[in-house]
Amino acid sequence: MNDLLSMTFSQLEAELLSMGEKKYVAGQVFSWLHEKQAASPDEMTNVSKNLREKLKNFYSFSSCTIEKKLVSVYDNTVKYLFRLQDGERIESVVMQYKYGHTICVSSQVGCKMGCTFCASGIAGFVRNLLPGEILAQLYTAQRDLGVSISHIVMMGVGEPLDNFDNVMTFLSLVTDARGQNLSMRNISLSTCGVVPMIDRLREQKLQLTLSVSLHAPNDAIRQQTMPVARRWDMDTLLNACRRYADDTGRRISFEYAMIAGVNDSDACAEELANRLKGMLCHVNLIPVNAVKERDYARSSDRRIRSFIAVLEKHKINVTVRRTLGSDINASCGQLRRGEGPQTNASLHKG
Ligand code: SAH
Repeated sequence: MNDLLSMTFSQLEAELLSMGEKKYVAGQVFSWLHEKQAASPDEMTNVSKNLREKLKNFYSFSSCTIEKKLVSVYDNTVKYLFRLQDGERIESVVMQYKYGHTICVSSQVGCKMGCTFCASGIAGFVRNLLPGEILAQLYTAQRDLGVSISHIVMMGVGEPLDNFDNVMTFLSLVTDARGQNLSMRNISLSTCGVVPMIDRLREQKLQLTLSVSLHAPNDAIRQQTMPVARRWDMDTLLNACRRYADDTGRRISFEYAMIAGVNDSDACAEELANRLKGMLCHVNLIPVNAVKERDYARSSDRRIRSFIAVLEKHKINVTVRRTLGSDINASCGQLRRGEGPQTNASLHKG
Protein backbone atom coordinates (compact mmCIF):
# COMPACT_ATOMS: atom_id res chain seq x y z
CA MET A 1 0.00 0.00 0.00
CA ASN A 2 1.35 3.41 -0.93
CA ASP A 3 2.53 5.49 1.99
CA LEU A 4 1.05 8.99 1.99
CA LEU A 5 3.94 10.46 3.95
CA SER A 6 6.50 9.06 1.50
CA MET A 7 5.04 10.64 -1.65
CA THR A 8 6.64 13.64 -3.27
CA PHE A 9 4.33 16.51 -4.18
CA SER A 10 4.08 15.39 -7.79
CA GLN A 11 3.37 11.78 -6.83
CA LEU A 12 0.66 12.92 -4.45
CA GLU A 13 -0.82 15.21 -7.10
CA ALA A 14 -0.90 12.37 -9.65
CA GLU A 15 -2.60 10.06 -7.12
CA LEU A 16 -5.23 12.63 -6.25
CA LEU A 17 -5.91 13.54 -9.89
CA SER A 18 -6.37 9.85 -10.66
CA MET A 19 -8.97 9.74 -7.91
CA GLY A 20 -10.86 12.54 -9.65
CA GLU A 21 -9.80 15.31 -7.26
CA LYS A 22 -9.10 18.87 -8.38
CA LYS A 23 -5.46 19.89 -8.76
CA TYR A 24 -5.47 22.30 -5.79
CA VAL A 25 -6.38 19.49 -3.39
CA ALA A 26 -2.82 18.16 -3.64
CA GLY A 27 -1.59 21.43 -2.12
CA GLN A 28 -4.05 21.11 0.74
CA VAL A 29 -3.22 17.49 1.50
CA PHE A 30 0.54 18.08 1.18
CA SER A 31 0.30 20.98 3.60
CA TRP A 32 -1.59 18.82 6.12
CA LEU A 33 1.00 16.11 5.80
CA HIS A 34 4.21 18.10 5.80
CA GLU A 35 3.53 21.62 7.03
CA LYS A 36 0.91 21.01 9.70
CA GLN A 37 2.17 17.48 10.37
CA ALA A 38 -1.26 15.93 10.75
CA ALA A 39 -1.15 12.62 12.56
CA SER A 40 -4.01 11.21 10.47
CA PRO A 41 -6.24 12.17 7.51
CA ASP A 42 -8.97 12.81 10.11
CA GLU A 43 -7.24 16.08 10.98
CA MET A 44 -7.49 17.40 7.40
CA THR A 45 -10.51 19.55 8.10
CA ASN A 46 -10.62 21.46 4.81
CA VAL A 47 -10.52 18.23 2.83
CA SER A 48 -13.82 16.49 1.99
CA LYS A 49 -14.95 13.71 4.31
CA ASN A 50 -15.13 11.43 1.32
CA LEU A 51 -11.47 12.00 0.41
CA ARG A 52 -10.37 11.66 4.03
CA GLU A 53 -12.01 8.24 4.12
CA LYS A 54 -10.34 7.21 0.87
CA LEU A 55 -6.95 8.35 2.15
CA LYS A 56 -7.46 6.27 5.27
CA ASN A 57 -8.67 3.18 3.44
CA PHE A 58 -6.41 3.08 0.41
CA TYR A 59 -3.09 4.39 1.72
CA SER A 60 -0.78 3.73 4.58
CA PHE A 61 0.44 6.59 6.76
CA SER A 62 3.88 6.21 8.33
CA SER A 63 3.98 6.93 12.02
CA CYS A 64 6.19 6.56 15.05
CA THR A 65 4.66 5.75 18.42
CA ILE A 66 6.67 6.92 21.40
CA GLU A 67 7.53 3.79 23.34
CA LYS A 68 10.07 5.39 25.60
CA LYS A 69 11.31 8.93 26.09
CA LEU A 70 14.34 9.88 28.14
CA VAL A 71 15.26 13.46 28.94
CA SER A 72 18.74 14.39 30.12
CA VAL A 73 18.78 16.38 33.33
CA TYR A 74 22.05 17.98 32.24
CA ASP A 75 21.22 19.45 28.86
CA ASN A 76 17.63 18.56 27.91
CA THR A 77 18.75 16.14 25.24
CA VAL A 78 15.76 13.91 24.49
CA LYS A 79 16.04 10.37 23.34
CA TYR A 80 13.09 8.53 21.83
CA LEU A 81 12.51 4.87 21.34
CA PHE A 82 9.92 4.80 18.56
CA ARG A 83 7.77 1.89 17.53
CA LEU A 84 6.99 1.55 13.83
CA GLN A 85 3.74 0.11 12.49
CA ASP A 86 5.25 -3.35 11.99
CA GLY A 87 6.52 -3.41 15.57
CA GLU A 88 10.16 -2.67 14.72
CA ARG A 89 11.87 -0.10 16.89
CA ILE A 90 14.13 2.79 16.03
CA GLU A 91 15.78 5.55 18.03
CA SER A 92 16.07 9.28 17.50
CA VAL A 93 17.72 11.96 19.60
CA VAL A 94 16.84 15.65 19.83
CA MET A 95 19.64 17.94 20.94
CA GLN A 96 19.40 21.56 21.92
CA TYR A 97 22.10 23.90 20.72
CA LYS A 98 22.39 27.67 20.85
CA TYR A 99 21.27 27.88 17.23
CA GLY A 100 18.23 25.67 17.70
CA HIS A 101 17.16 22.06 17.84
CA THR A 102 18.83 19.23 15.97
CA ILE A 103 17.40 15.77 15.46
CA CYS A 104 19.49 12.70 14.82
CA VAL A 105 17.41 10.29 12.75
CA SER A 106 17.74 6.62 11.84
CA SER A 107 17.63 5.55 8.20
CA GLN A 108 17.35 1.76 8.59
CA VAL A 109 16.25 -0.79 11.17
CA GLY A 110 19.61 -2.33 11.98
CA CYS A 111 22.61 -2.06 9.68
CA LYS A 112 24.56 -4.26 7.26
CA MET A 113 27.90 -2.55 7.63
CA GLY A 114 29.24 -4.34 10.70
CA CYS A 115 31.68 -1.72 12.07
CA THR A 116 33.16 -3.44 15.10
CA PHE A 117 32.87 -0.49 17.50
CA CYS A 118 29.22 0.12 16.63
CA ALA A 119 26.36 -1.66 18.36
CA SER A 120 24.13 -1.50 15.28
CA GLY A 121 26.16 -4.13 13.49
CA ILE A 122 25.89 -6.70 16.23
CA ALA A 123 22.32 -7.71 15.44
CA GLY A 124 22.51 -7.18 11.70
CA PHE A 125 20.05 -5.64 9.30
CA VAL A 126 16.27 -5.81 9.35
CA ARG A 127 14.95 -3.39 6.73
CA ASN A 128 15.15 0.02 5.13
CA LEU A 129 13.02 2.85 6.45
CA LEU A 130 10.55 4.50 4.09
CA PRO A 131 10.98 8.23 3.44
CA GLY A 132 7.82 8.73 5.52
CA GLU A 133 9.28 6.77 8.43
CA ILE A 134 12.35 9.01 8.47
CA LEU A 135 10.08 12.07 8.36
CA ALA A 136 7.80 10.65 11.04
CA GLN A 137 10.72 10.71 13.50
CA LEU A 138 10.99 14.48 12.98
CA TYR A 139 7.26 15.16 12.99
CA THR A 140 6.58 13.04 16.07
CA ALA A 141 9.40 14.69 18.02
CA GLN A 142 8.26 18.16 16.99
CA ARG A 143 4.68 17.47 17.97
CA ASP A 144 5.73 15.94 21.26
CA LEU A 145 8.16 18.70 22.22
CA GLY A 146 6.15 21.59 20.75
CA VAL A 147 9.24 22.98 19.06
CA SER A 148 10.37 23.29 15.49
CA ILE A 149 13.56 21.49 14.70
CA SER A 150 15.87 23.31 12.32
CA HIS A 151 18.74 20.87 11.84
CA ILE A 152 18.91 17.18 10.95
CA VAL A 153 21.79 14.76 11.19
CA MET A 154 21.44 11.37 9.55
CA MET A 155 23.63 9.68 12.10
CA GLY A 156 21.24 7.33 13.79
CA VAL A 157 20.96 3.63 13.15
CA GLY A 158 21.66 2.52 9.61
CA GLU A 159 23.75 3.47 6.61
CA PRO A 160 21.88 6.21 4.73
CA LEU A 161 23.69 5.56 1.45
CA ASP A 162 22.56 1.93 1.64
CA ASN A 163 18.97 3.23 1.48
CA PHE A 164 19.77 5.78 -1.19
CA ASP A 165 16.47 6.31 -2.99
CA ASN A 166 14.37 6.57 0.16
CA VAL A 167 16.89 8.93 1.74
CA MET A 168 16.86 11.14 -1.37
CA THR A 169 13.06 11.27 -1.29
CA PHE A 170 13.19 12.10 2.42
CA LEU A 171 15.63 14.96 1.72
CA SER A 172 13.49 16.36 -1.04
CA LEU A 173 10.36 16.19 1.13
CA VAL A 174 11.91 17.76 4.22
CA THR A 175 13.36 20.65 2.21
CA ASP A 176 10.16 21.19 0.17
CA ALA A 177 9.06 24.81 0.50
CA ARG A 178 5.44 23.63 0.74
CA GLY A 179 6.30 21.51 3.78
CA GLN A 180 8.98 21.89 6.46
CA ASN A 181 11.14 23.98 4.14
CA LEU A 182 14.33 23.05 5.96
CA SER A 183 17.56 24.33 4.49
CA MET A 184 19.70 21.62 2.91
CA ARG A 185 22.64 23.36 4.56
CA ASN A 186 21.19 22.40 7.92
CA ILE A 187 21.29 18.71 7.08
CA SER A 188 24.24 16.33 7.55
CA LEU A 189 24.41 12.86 6.12
CA SER A 190 26.92 10.43 7.56
CA THR A 191 28.30 7.46 5.64
CA CYS A 192 30.79 4.73 6.48
CA GLY A 193 32.14 5.18 2.95
CA VAL A 194 30.02 3.45 0.30
CA VAL A 195 32.07 4.91 -2.54
CA PRO A 196 29.76 4.51 -5.57
CA MET A 197 26.94 6.09 -3.60
CA ILE A 198 29.13 9.05 -2.60
CA ASP A 199 29.54 9.62 -6.32
CA ARG A 200 25.80 9.33 -6.86
CA LEU A 201 25.20 11.79 -4.05
CA ARG A 202 27.72 14.18 -5.59
CA GLU A 203 25.77 14.09 -8.84
CA GLN A 204 22.70 15.36 -6.97
CA LYS A 205 24.68 18.53 -6.18
CA LEU A 206 22.98 19.03 -2.82
CA GLN A 207 24.20 21.60 -0.32
CA LEU A 208 24.08 19.19 2.59
CA THR A 209 27.10 18.37 4.73
CA LEU A 210 28.64 15.00 3.99
CA SER A 211 30.20 13.31 7.01
CA VAL A 212 32.45 10.38 6.31
CA SER A 213 33.25 7.92 9.06
CA LEU A 214 36.96 7.42 8.62
CA HIS A 215 38.07 6.28 12.07
CA ALA A 216 41.56 5.29 10.89
CA PRO A 217 44.58 6.77 9.13
CA ASN A 218 45.32 3.74 6.94
CA ASP A 219 43.80 0.64 5.39
CA ALA A 220 45.33 -1.79 7.88
CA ILE A 221 43.63 -0.18 10.89
CA ARG A 222 40.47 0.71 9.02
CA GLN A 223 40.00 -2.86 7.81
CA GLN A 224 40.25 -4.13 11.39
CA THR A 225 37.27 -2.08 12.51
CA MET A 226 35.24 -1.37 9.36
CA PRO A 227 34.42 -4.23 6.95
CA VAL A 228 33.45 -1.67 4.31
CA ALA A 229 37.15 -0.74 4.11
CA ARG A 230 37.88 -4.11 2.55
CA ARG A 231 35.57 -3.29 -0.30
CA TRP A 232 36.91 0.22 -1.01
CA ASP A 233 40.37 1.18 0.18
CA MET A 234 41.18 4.57 1.64
CA ASP A 235 42.68 6.02 -1.52
CA THR A 236 39.51 5.16 -3.42
CA LEU A 237 37.38 6.63 -0.63
CA LEU A 238 39.43 9.80 -0.24
CA ASN A 239 39.43 10.36 -3.99
CA ALA A 240 35.63 10.15 -3.99
CA CYS A 241 35.64 12.66 -1.11
CA ARG A 242 37.88 15.03 -3.07
CA ARG A 243 35.57 14.80 -6.08
CA TYR A 244 32.65 15.48 -3.77
CA ALA A 245 34.24 18.55 -2.20
CA ASP A 246 35.41 19.87 -5.59
CA ASP A 247 32.04 19.50 -7.26
CA THR A 248 29.81 20.71 -4.44
CA GLY A 249 32.14 23.25 -2.84
CA ARG A 250 31.15 21.73 0.49
CA ARG A 251 33.67 20.82 3.15
CA ILE A 252 33.70 17.13 4.08
CA SER A 253 33.48 16.31 7.76
CA PHE A 254 35.55 13.25 8.69
CA GLU A 255 34.36 11.41 11.76
CA TYR A 256 37.11 9.81 13.79
CA ALA A 257 36.20 7.75 16.87
CA MET A 258 39.16 7.79 19.24
CA ILE A 259 39.76 4.23 20.45
CA ALA A 260 42.51 3.74 23.02
CA GLY A 261 45.49 1.90 21.61
CA VAL A 262 43.85 1.30 18.21
CA ASN A 263 43.91 4.54 16.19
CA ASP A 264 44.90 7.31 18.60
CA SER A 265 48.70 7.53 18.54
CA ASP A 266 50.59 10.61 17.39
CA ALA A 267 51.86 8.51 14.49
CA CYS A 268 48.23 7.89 13.48
CA ALA A 269 47.59 11.64 13.63
CA GLU A 270 50.64 12.31 11.43
CA GLU A 271 49.50 9.76 8.90
CA LEU A 272 45.95 11.11 8.92
CA ALA A 273 47.18 14.67 8.43
CA ASN A 274 49.27 13.59 5.44
CA ARG A 275 46.39 11.83 3.79
CA LEU A 276 44.01 14.74 4.23
CA LYS A 277 46.46 17.43 3.25
CA GLY A 278 45.02 19.95 0.80
CA MET A 279 41.48 18.66 1.06
CA LEU A 280 38.51 20.89 1.86
CA CYS A 281 37.69 19.08 5.08
CA HIS A 282 37.34 19.04 8.80
CA VAL A 283 38.06 16.27 11.32
CA ASN A 284 35.58 15.60 14.09
CA LEU A 285 37.04 13.48 16.89
CA ILE A 286 34.56 11.38 18.87
CA PRO A 287 35.72 9.74 22.09
CA VAL A 288 34.46 6.22 21.35
CA ASN A 289 31.40 5.13 23.28
CA ALA A 290 31.94 1.84 24.97
CA VAL A 291 29.77 -0.94 23.57
CA LYS A 292 29.02 -3.75 25.97
CA GLU A 293 29.89 -6.51 23.53
CA ARG A 294 33.34 -5.09 22.67
CA ASP A 295 36.26 -4.16 24.82
CA TYR A 296 37.10 -0.87 23.17
CA ALA A 297 37.96 1.97 25.52
CA ARG A 298 37.92 5.66 24.76
CA SER A 299 41.18 7.52 24.48
CA SER A 300 42.27 9.63 27.43
CA ASP A 301 41.80 13.39 27.30
CA ARG A 302 45.57 13.76 27.24
CA ARG A 303 45.84 11.47 24.22
CA ILE A 304 43.07 13.36 22.43
CA ARG A 305 44.80 16.68 23.11
CA SER A 306 48.04 15.35 21.73
CA PHE A 307 46.29 13.99 18.61
CA ILE A 308 44.68 17.38 18.06
CA ALA A 309 48.03 19.14 18.42
CA VAL A 310 49.53 17.02 15.64
CA LEU A 311 46.60 17.70 13.30
CA GLU A 312 46.72 21.40 14.07
CA LYS A 313 50.45 21.50 13.40
CA HIS A 314 49.54 20.30 9.91
CA LYS A 315 46.79 22.92 9.63
CA ILE A 316 44.00 20.37 9.65
CA ASN A 317 40.78 21.74 10.98
CA VAL A 318 39.77 19.66 14.01
CA THR A 319 37.09 19.62 16.71
CA VAL A 320 36.06 17.19 19.42
CA ARG A 321 32.43 16.24 19.51
CA ARG A 322 30.67 17.50 22.59
CA THR A 323 28.94 14.80 24.57
CA LEU A 324 25.27 15.51 25.17
CA GLY A 325 22.80 13.49 27.16
CA SER A 326 25.44 11.39 28.86
CA ASP A 327 23.00 10.41 31.62
CA ILE A 328 20.50 8.96 29.13
CA ASN A 329 23.04 7.16 27.01
CA ALA A 330 22.05 9.39 24.13
CA SER A 331 25.15 8.80 22.12
CA CYS A 332 25.24 5.06 21.98
CA GLY A 333 21.93 4.14 23.47
CA GLN A 334 21.24 0.58 24.17
CA LEU A 335 17.62 1.55 24.57
CA ARG A 336 16.39 -1.08 22.19
CA ARG A 337 18.38 -3.84 23.83
CA GLY A 338 16.13 -4.37 26.80
CA GLU A 339 13.04 -4.02 24.67
CA GLY A 340 12.22 -7.47 23.45
CA PRO A 341 13.37 -9.90 20.85
CA GLN A 342 13.77 -7.58 17.89
CA THR A 343 17.10 -6.29 16.74
CA ASN A 344 19.68 -4.65 18.89
CA ALA A 345 20.72 -1.83 16.65
CA SER A 346 21.59 1.10 18.80
CA LEU A 347 21.99 4.74 18.22
CA HIS A 348 25.21 6.59 18.08
CA LYS A 349 24.27 10.14 17.62
CA GLY A 350 26.07 12.98 15.97
N1 SAH B 1 26.26 4.47 8.94
C1 SAH B 1 26.62 5.85 8.96
C2 SAH B 1 25.79 6.70 9.88
C3 SAH B 1 25.53 6.24 11.28
S1 SAH B 1 26.80 6.28 12.41
C4 SAH B 1 28.10 5.99 9.26
O1 SAH B 1 28.75 5.00 9.47
O2 SAH B 1 28.60 7.10 9.20
C5 SAH B 1 27.10 7.85 13.07
C6 SAH B 1 28.53 7.93 13.55
O3 SAH B 1 28.72 7.30 14.84
C7 SAH B 1 29.52 7.24 12.62
O4 SAH B 1 30.64 8.05 12.45
C8 SAH B 1 29.85 5.99 13.38
O5 SAH B 1 31.04 5.41 12.93
C9 SAH B 1 29.89 6.51 14.79
N2 SAH B 1 29.86 5.48 15.84
C10 SAH B 1 29.29 4.27 15.82
N3 SAH B 1 29.50 3.61 16.96
C11 SAH B 1 30.22 4.43 17.74
C12 SAH B 1 30.75 4.32 19.05
N4 SAH B 1 30.59 3.23 19.78
N5 SAH B 1 31.44 5.38 19.52
C13 SAH B 1 31.60 6.50 18.78
N6 SAH B 1 31.13 6.66 17.56
C14 SAH B 1 30.44 5.63 17.03
